[in-house]
Amino acid sequence: MRFDYDDQNIFAKILRGEIPNKTVLETEHTLAFEDIAPQAPVHVLVIPKGAYVSYDHFARDASDAEILDFTRAVARICEEADVEAGFRAISNARAHGVQEVPHFHVHILGGRPLGRMLE
Ligand code: 5GP
Repeated sequence: MRFDYDDQNIFAKILRGEIPNKTVLETEHTLAFEDIAPQAPVHVLVIPKGAYVSYDHFARDASDAEILDFTRAVARICEEADVEAGFRAISNARAHGVQEVPHFHVHILGGRPLGRMLE
């Protein structure tokens, strides 16, 4: 699979500081910020700083350091946010996944009962 990264996507602009964001956590390889249209009391987007289009792109091509940094960032966000009662981590990919922004991101949703997603 070939992944073509569009550096004009919104999250690339956020990473370059061209668009403001409400940062929750920043590490060497990862940025986490509040979703502009939250679907739950906690709705954080976690993105790698590297140019990856989707979860499968990141999982295939990112370095071990980037993957570890990203994963630990998710753990810190969950620790610090109000998600002790539970949360959902989602990553949409491409057309069938209804991915709006073509820079890999994981949504962390919580703070209320989220209902069943898959039947
Ligand atoms: P996707 O459908 O790609 O998984 O979700 C993209 C998410 O990015 C949506 O939940 C949307 O609300 C959020 N989003 C889109 N534009 C912006 C923006 O400029 N700033 C922030 N913080 N979130 C955004």
